Amino acid sequence: MRAKAIEKAIEGGRRILCVFPRYTSAFGTFEYAYPLPDGVRAFMPPQALLLIAAYLPEHWQVRFIDENIRPAGKQDFEWAEAVFVSGMHIQRQQMNDICRRAHAFDLPVALGGPSVSACPDYYPSFDYLHVGELGDATDELIARLSSDPSRPAEQVVLKTVDRVAMSDFPIPAYELAETRKYFLGSIQYSSGCPYQCEFCDIPGLYGRNPRLKTPEQIIAELDKLRECGMTDSIYFVDDNFIGNRKAALDLLPHLVAWQKRTGYVTRLACEATLNIAKRPEILEKMREAYFATIFCGIETPDPDALKAMHKDHNMMVPILEGVQTINSYGMEVVSGIIMGLDTDKPETGDALLSFVEQSRIPLLTINLLQALPKTPLWDRLERENRLVHDEGRDSNVAFLLPYDEVVNSWKRCMEMAYEPTRLFARYEYQCDYTYANRLKVPPSAEKKSWANIKRGLIMLRNLFWKVGVRGDYRRPFWKFAWSRLAKGDIEGFIGSAMIAHHLIVFARAASSGQQNASNYSIRLREASVPAE
Ligand code: SF4
Repeated sequence: MRAKAIEKAIEGGRRILCVFPRYTSAFGTFEYAYPLPDGVRAFMPPQALLLIAAYLPEHWQVRFIDENIRPAGKQDFEWAEAVFVSGMHIQRQQMNDICRRAHAFDLPVALGGPSVSACPDYYPSFDYLHVGELGDATDELIARLSSDPSRPAEQVVLKTVDRVAMSDFPIPAYELAETRKYFLGSIQYSSGCPYQCEFCDIPGLYGRNPRLKTPEQIIAELDKLRECGMTDSIYFVDDNFIGNRKAALDLLPHLVAWQKRTGYVTRLACEATLNIAKRPEILEKMREAYFATIFCGIETPDPDALKAMHKDHNMMVPILEGVQTINSYGMEVVSGIIMGLDTDKPETGDALLSFVEQSRIPLLTINLLQALPKTPLWDRLERENRLVHDEGRDSNVAFLLPYDEVVNSWKRCMEMAYEPTRLFARYEYQCDYTYANRLKVPPSAEKKSWANIKRGLIMLRNLFWKVGVRGDYRRPFWKFAWSRLAKGDIEGFIGSAMIAHHLIVFARAASSGQQNASNYSIRLREASVPAE
């Protein structure tokens, strides 16, 4: 909690405009699926800015704008006394653009989040840089704005040394977000990961010893998300849900009790290392808590490559067996895959496609290797003089194989993996063999409500019209639709067809060169950004 001395010093009220930048189009944000459900406009509420909003002094006024939903306009800037921005590397241009617009109104702009925490020198035009997590830098920023809300003469860099314990975090100000306009809800229990995969910036940014909220905090947050209208699916954006296995086991009974109390209307999802497959005691509880999806960074099916990137923990069980085990608890695996590794060979693409078929994982974010600053990979490539600073390229890595060969192999994998017939076959399997293993829950009053039925009908209408009538992969779509509907599986059909639509459209754009091949940095863990 904020130190008392600082709390006392904050007398004047301020009006703070928190602006979350637009995402660059990405595979993992499902944007092509948004027109199918009713009113969805953005991916997930950003944890970090909503946390900061909740942490500000109570008497300060806060307005939150997610530019994925609507841009901050003249009225917002005229209302504000200061602007807060947060984001990832991939949103760099958009963050700078918000700063430029705020400066047109002579407002001081503070930037926090993972990108500035890793690379403060990317952002010379901001007035305040908040480097690191919620802590003494945040208090200092608040104190400075409280005493003087004008723009400082030169940039002020504030670095957190003393972090606020996560168990002291306030509940993010979900009430400021238009929660119904998000594809997924987000929540965070822990931060950090004990492993040290070569390409990953998480251990460097957030530490190897996961920090934790309490189960009671999570339950209060879930209740608040429900109050704010976010009920369908909630994603634990923790870097690794089993980074501290004991903590995961402590939390799960609380989640089970919460689901029982609220009628199992909310599906849960998280990110975890694949070695979760070795933990039946965790998987069983996750099934009971109604987890539907786990994102696993499988990265590659090649054991030599896993070893080279220090991700040996993926081999604690044979990968296909691990995926099957998770499926047997009713949870679909979503997988991250990286191409362009030093261990890749000309036949890597074929091996990957065969893995996709065998694993029957429908959704794999297949990205070209991208070196992120503050990672062991970045340091190694820098030493080897293999970092390429050319924004026209799909990756900043000089691959060992010829660049065009790697990019073409990536395009071919995207095209083949998301060919509609193949993709629907994988979803068919998931519906029959994975979703079928989920907990059978009695339909709650909320699920049977007219509002919920109406939403389902709207989604069905949109799918039938936009894909079944006007789409260009009608034959595999209808084959899948008839098969699911004949089995009475409306829920499986809607959920799968909606995501499949995004994957098919995005993959086509990617394989024809219209989408970037290195959106790795914004895979689903994007919202895991307590670093404000
Ligand atoms: S890639 Fe995943 S397992 Fe590896 S260090 Fe990062 S968060 Fe941890």
